[in-house]
Amino acid sequence: MSVLDPSVPIFRYFEEISAVPRGSGNEEGVSRYLAAFAEARGLRYVRDSLNNVVIYKPGSPGRENEAPLMLQAHMDMVCEQDDSSCCAHDFLTEPLRLVREGDLLRADGTTLGADDGVGVSWMLAILESDSLSHPPLECVFTANEETGMDGARGLKKDLITARRMIGLDGHGETVTCVSSSGGRRLLARCPIIFSGNSSPCYLLTVTGLRGGHSGNCIDQGLGNAIKLGFRILYQLLERGVDVRIVRITGGAKTNAIPRQFAVLFASGFSAPMLEKYTDQIAADLKEELLETDPELSIGLEPADRVNSAITQEDTGALITMGYLLPNGMLSRDPVLGIPTVSLNIGILIQTEQFIDFDCCLRSPFRSAREDMSRQIEAVSSVFGGFIQLQNDYDGWGYAKDSPLREALRRVLKERGEELREEATHGGLETGVFKGRYPQMDIITYGPRMSGCHTPQETLELDSFLRSYENLTRLLSAV
Ligand SMILES: [Zn+2]
Repeated sequence: MSVLDPSVPIFRYFEEISAVPRGSGNEEGVSRYLAAFAEARGLRYVRDSLNNVVIYKPGSPGRENEAPLMLQAHMDMVCEQDDSSCCAHDFLTEPLRLVREGDLLRADGTTLGADDGVGVSWMLAILESDSLSHPPLECVFTANEETGMDGARGLKKDLITARRMIGLDGHGETVTCVSSSGGRRLLARCPIIFSGNSSPCYLLTVTGLRGGHSGNCIDQGLGNAIKLGFRILYQLLERGVDVRIVRITGGAKTNAIPRQFAVLFASGFSAPMLEKYTDQIAADLKEELLETDPELSIGLEPADRVNSAITQEDTGALITMGYLLPNGMLSRDPVLGIPTVSLNIGILIQTEQFIDFDCCLRSPFRSAREDMSRQIEAVSSVFGGFIQLQNDYDGWGYAKDSPLREALRRVLKERGEELREEATHGGLETGVFKGRYPQMDIITYGPRMSGCHTPQETLELDSFLRSYENLTRLLSAV
C-alpha cells in the first residue's frame, strides 16, 4: 500500500523511485527505470554508459519554437542508516521504507533520498503532464553525483543545446543558489623506505574531534586530526626525540575534516620524557581547541615492538612535509562572506612505498586551485615527493544578470515570498555545467527538507507540493 497519495504525480513518482535501490555507484536499475519511462511515453531519450539519462520533451502547444530549457537532478542518493536499528538495510537490493508523520516524510532507519529524489520525481511529473505550459525541455538525470559528480562530468557535451538551466538539487522553497565552488582532489605523495628496528614502539592517537563537511565547515576553525598529529610529531622531533614511523593512518573521506589520527612509531627515547612531552603539547592543543572541539583526546601508550620501521631520515622528511602542508580556510570572499580558497587534508594512505596525503582543494577560481596545487607540489618536492591530480571540477561564479533568477523572484513575489540568494563553498553539478557551457543561465530550486545525508533526512510534504507548483509557474513564465 502506498504511503503517499498516488493520484498526485510527484508523490507517485517519488514513491516509485524510492522502491528502486539507487545508492551512488548502483544506478543501473534507476537508470533503466528512467529509460523505460521515456520509452513508454514515446519521448526521445539518451542513456549513456555512465547511466546518465537525458529525456527530451517538445515545447507545449504554441511554444515549440522557443529556446529550450534544461532541468536537471541527480538520480543517486547517499546511503546511510541508523547503527541502532535492529535490522540492517541492504541498500543494494531493498526498497526504502517510507514513513509519513503528519506533514513530514522520512525513511525508516535510513536516508530518504529526497536529495535528489525530489528533483527526479518533479521532472517525471513534468514530462508526463499534457496540461503544463513549458518551452522545449531537456531533462537531465545524472548518475553518481554524491561521490564525485562522475555523471555530470562525463555527460557528452552535445546532448545539451539549452543555455538556461534549473538545477533541482536545491532546497528551501524560497532560496536559490547563485554560486558554488570548484574543486580538485589530489594526492601529495611522500616516498618511504623501511629498515630494521630494535627500539620500543608507541601508539600516538588523536581522537574526539567534531569533523564536518570540508565545503560547509572549513571556516569554523575545527581541528584536523591529521594536521594535529603531524604538529605533535614535529614538536617531538624538535625536542630531540628519535621518531621512526611504522604505520600511520587518519581520516575517512577526502571531503570530510578528519576526526581521527593514529601513528605507531619506534623510539629509543626515555619513555617518561616522551610521555611528558606529549602531555605538554596535548595540553596546548586542548586549550586552543576548547571551543570548537571540546572532546579532543590525545593519547600515547606503549605498543608491541616491531622489527622494521621507516628510516629516521624518511620519517623526518615525512613529518616535516605533513607539518608544512597548508590546510584549512586560506581566504574569504569579502562580499559573499564565504571561503574562496580552502584545502582539506582528508585521508592518510600508507602503501609499501608511499605515504599519501589525500587532499580536497576548493576554489571557484581555477587559477587559485592551480596555485594551491603548485604550493603543495613545491612543499612535496623538497622532501622527494610529488603530486598526482585525481580530478578537477569547475566552480560557478555569481552572475549579475540572470533572467531565470528574476523570473523565479517574480513567481515567489506573487505568493508574497521574497527570494533569498545563497552561495556555497561546496561543489555542485551546476559548476560542472557552467564550466562546460559558460553561457548557461543557472538557478537552483527545491523544497524545504532537512538532515540530508543522514538517517534523519526529512522532506516537508506541503513544501514539496507548493514548490512544485512554483516550478510549474516558472516554466509557464520563461
Ligand atoms: Zn544532492
